[in-house]
Amino acid sequence: MTSSQPLVVVVGGSLAGLTLALASAARGVPVQVVERAAGRAQGGDSLSVDLAAIARAVGHDPRSYPVLPVVPAYRDRHLTTWPALYGWLRDRVGETPGIVLQGGKAVASVRARDGMAELSFSDGTQTMADAVIGADGYQSVVRRAVLPEAPFARYAGYLVWRGLVPEQALKHPVSWPSNGGLWIDFVQGYRLVAAVVPGRDGSTDIGRRQVTFAWFDAHRDGLLRAMNRLTPDGHLVGTLGRRNIDADIRLELVAMVPTLWPQTWAEAVTVGVRSTDSLSGASIAEYLPERLAQGPLALVGDAAHTVSPMTGSGFAAAVDDAVVLARMLAERPSSERFSAALQRYESVRLPWVRALVNHSRRLSSEYVQYATQGREAGVGK
Ligand SMILES: Cc1cc2nc3c(=O)[nH]c(=O)nc-3n(C[C@H](O)[C@H](O)[C@H](O)COP(=O)(O)OP(=O)(O)OC[C@H]3O[C@@H](n4cnc5c(N)ncnc54)[C@H](O)[C@@H]3O)c2cc1C
Repeated sequence: MTSSQPLVVVVGGSLAGLTLALASAARGVPVQVVERAAGRAQGGDSLSVDLAAIARAVGHDPRSYPVLPVVPAYRDRHLTTWPALYGWLRDRVGETPGIVLQGGKAVASVRARDGMAELSFSDGTQTMADAVIGADGYQSVVRRAVLPEAPFARYAGYLVWRGLVPEQALKHPVSWPSNGGLWIDFVQGYRLVAAVVPGRDGSTDIGRRQVTFAWFDAHRDGLLRAMNRLTPDGHLVGTLGRRNIDADIRLELVAMVPTLWPQTWAEAVTVGVRSTDSLSGASIAEYLPERLAQGPLALVGDAAHTVSPMTGSGFAAAVDDAVVLARMLAERPSSERFSAALQRYESVRLPWVRALVNHSRRLSSEYVQYATQGREAGVGK
């Protein structure tokens, strides 16, 4: 990037940030991505994706070499693993001119100043940019400047125990076909989503795949508070990362598996719950935005609109954000300030993302009601 070009900084180099960077570069807009993590970022386990939508957004087709390993999920959706998708996007970023990715650089604060955006980093340095896009997740720092009156996502009332288990770690491969899609059930107030996904080497051969599970649990508010992840006024301060889950909680979950989940998934869930490398507890947050842009600042992905995994749409919405925002940036007349292009992005996307978050809230509230009633009726733990 030369100093005569406008500087567009994307804060956060995970799924949304990398997708936006690729979408922008594909439309002739160079960007700089700053990511807090020093090496490769860590994220989730698995997610359903729309391969055609990704191809349209980023200008590389995940169905062509180098392919993104997937199995069919439902309708036009496929299942992949988070590490495979992140690695695929990151590799495409590495080979795309027009994107500078800087890791190990945490943004402490952002503010609009004289029509420009001022970034302050945790290392004490500062930079001025023409536009700053927050792709920094549900606890977004950029959101604090875009929506200072409502900067925090709210706890949706439940967490998701999740894991990714190689079939090689099981006594027998699971009896679920690679094209079987998602298995979903509700039992005694809990919900389990399970599936097989490609192995770490991309293989879909039986015995070399991985099993992904997401076990929804609405009875852990006390645990989240005790571990300082949830404030008394309902703000999430973090999730339960791998290695942060006590042995007694693992034992409790393991004991519940035979009473809740069928044999097809029971061994994989048990192995995943026992594994300190696998089990994490994702406390679910939701954020309904009043705005997506403010002056030279804008938001995409979970920073903009945080939704429950029950929607299956968090990343899918980030892909749509990236397409619209990259188009608005590319079509901006060179004499015009970035704020006008960011306002146009907001006008197109805000109604859609608000509808998605409202849908998410309805799903969450129905689930929490079901889970609570299950408990009051004396079932469940
Ligand atoms: C159990 C589960 C299942 C899901 N299933 C699906 C699914 O099937 N389909 C789907 O579409 N979506 C799904 N989702 C949602 C999807 O995973 C998220 O929407 C998506 O991963 C969010 O990506 P993101 O890049 O916006 O945010 P994040 O993944 O949170 O990334 C934010 C990035 O910003 C960086 N960062 C944060 N703060 C700073 C800072 N101050 N300075 C610099 N960098 C910073 C972080 O290090 C991180 O790399 C699921 C989510 C969960 C929890």
